[in-house]
Amino acid sequence: MKLVFLGAPGAGKGTHANFVSDYLGIPVISAGNLLRDAIRLGTPLGKQVKGIMDQGNLVPDEITIKLMKEKLAEPECANGVIFDGFPRTIGQAEALDGIVDVDVVISLEVPDEVIMKRMEGRLTCPKCQTTYHIVCNPPKEEGICDVCGTALGVRDDDKPEVVRNRFKVYHELTEPIKEHYSATGKLKLVSGRENVQETSDLVFKAIGIKR
Ligand code: AMP
Repeated sequence: MKLVFLGAPGAGKGTHANFVSDYLGIPVISAGNLLRDAIRLGTPLGKQVKGIMDQGNLVPDEITIKLMKEKLAEPECANGVIFDGFPRTIGQAEALDGIVDVDVVISLEVPDEVIMKRMEGRLTCPKCQTTYHIVCNPPKEEGICDVCGTALGVRDDDKPEVVRNRFKVYHELTEPIKEHYSATGKLKLVSGRENVQETSDLVFKAIGIKR
């Protein structure tokens, strides 16, 4: 199965992509995580994209498309894959059409102001990139990642002024992708306003999985 998760920054793409990944046993490819890994490791790519990401702008298509192609060529992606945060432009969507046949595109629909409130409490593990929320999805031990034990922090681009720009970029460049996929009948709009469990149920139903 090949799935795409669309949605505004902070809509819950990563969280719900990971639930589906655990259930189906296929990997999530997150463009944002791959780019942050490159920054953390200080690679030439990381140095090239850090400033762009810190401002909440999109990394050029040729970079993300190349990253995705390399990742998709890995054996773990042979049985299916879940894209989180890719494609983010029409150019990326068209490139993806030429590489894989996507089965379902889930668009998590959450109003900007609801997300802004949620993002206030978002914490991220700088090492394994698992995300938490102080109230809705807290780690077992305060401030510590459940998965790898690293101290949690706030992502540089989760600061309110950068988040505002990320919304603008989403509405201008990413949202038009919905039309691209609705024309193919693959697009499923899912309300991401509910609590995590309810939204997860809606996501599984939209994909056609009975748990
Ligand atoms: P995310 O972790 O998905 O919220 O992405 C964080 C940041 O990474 C975005 O604000 C962009 O700067 C960059 N990024 C992630 N995915 C893409 C993409 N598909 N195209 C361009 N830039 C991306």
